[in-house]
Amino acid sequence: MATVAFFAPHGSGHVNPTLGLAAELVRRGHRVTYATTAMFAEPVAETGAEVVPITSTWDGLDIKPPQMHGKELIGAMGLLLKETKAMLSQLDRGERPDLVVHDGPLCWWGRILAGRWRVPSVEVWPNLVSNAHWSMSTEYATLNPWSPRFLLMVVRLGRWLRTEGFRDVQAFTRGDTAAVRLVTLPRAFQYAGETFTDRYAFVGPGLTERSYQGAWEPPGELPVALVSLGTAYNDRPGFYRTVLRAVADRRWHVVLAMGEVDPGTLGPIPPNVEVHRQVPQLAVLRHARAFVTHAGMGSTMEGLSFGVPLVAVPQMAEQRANADRIAELGLGTVLAPDEVTAAGLWQAVEAVAGDERVRERLTWMRNEIAAAGGAPTAADEVEKVLGHR
Ligand code: UDP
Repeated sequence: MATVAFFAPHGSGHVNPTLGLAAELVRRGHRVTYATTAMFAEPVAETGAEVVPITSTWDGLDIKPPQMHGKELIGAMGLLLKETKAMLSQLDRGERPDLVVHDGPLCWWGRILAGRWRVPSVEVWPNLVSNAHWSMSTEYATLNPWSPRFLLMVVRLGRWLRTEGFRDVQAFTRGDTAAVRLVTLPRAFQYAGETFTDRYAFVGPGLTERSYQGAWEPPGELPVALVSLGTAYNDRPGFYRTVLRAVADRRWHVVLAMGEVDPGTLGPIPPNVEVHRQVPQLAVLRHARAFVTHAGMGSTMEGLSFGVPLVAVPQMAEQRANADRIAELGLGTVLAPDEVTAAGLWQAVEAVAGDERVRERLTWMRNEIAAAGGAPTAADEVEKVLGHR
């Protein structure tokens, strides 16, 4: 039995993809600790891991998980540096674990703690990964590498990282020091998937029970559609109004999750629509015939795990990359968010829900996800690094 310390940033899209692995390691008899904010204490506790409470500099503020590419990169690096320092001061006190598991894109403190403690690390990458053959920052979100602000930030970060023993900023942010990077999508979903080497293991999603979210059952016989823009880029009242106009009088039951938007501002809610801040997404997807999604990778993998046709309405660069891949692989369709009309939206929903070819592709992708192995394969990878296999 080993002690494994988990670290992840304050965001559902980064915490949820790690939970299946945490639960599987606990099931195999390891001691798992998980440093997280109050918001995620319940989801983490469900895995059987010991919750280590921390306070995030993003908690309670309207800060979205930083986007690590394009024009947003410079601001994101600043936010992350501040968060990393805050985390290190809270976390570098306790005992030294046998291994660190941490979110790859944002959790710099996991990487630094593993370095300070001289223990191996395994990274969880919950989104598309980049290499010389395909990269988010060349395909979807370019940044002038000579911009003075960017260069200044790289120098600032590089200087600080050197004090922690990391000499190469790029290698650090890529996670080159990890024993293995677990990517929570199947290789078939990754652009240029075959070009990623052994240091990347495409294990696919590892979903958990989420009993803390409660149950959900369809109220009748109507086909169910879930509409959600996720937890970060979801402040879109105009889009929700379009959805309500689109579904009024349709023979569909629609579950609409809209985060903090006040339903009172949306006008009358048709009787075939239930409106929530947050829904037990997996419980709804189990019954859904269509999923109108922002195409965050977590939601995308969850929809595909249940074989649900997707209508992607991406809200930012990373989601656009996911959405284009959904369309390219024939798993659904993409709508540009500023061109969505009520008629067009439901036409798209009915088209994907009734398309035999999409159904076949969804079956193929479900098989790819199953073959990727999910949490048990991820746990095998961790145990290999621990030397237990
Ligand atoms: N989620 C949920 N209920 C909701 C909205 C989101 O359970 O009403 C979960 C969803 O299942 C997923 C995560 O929150 O696991 C969102 O991650 P994703 O990568 O899809 O998008 P993000 O919120 O990071 O943009």
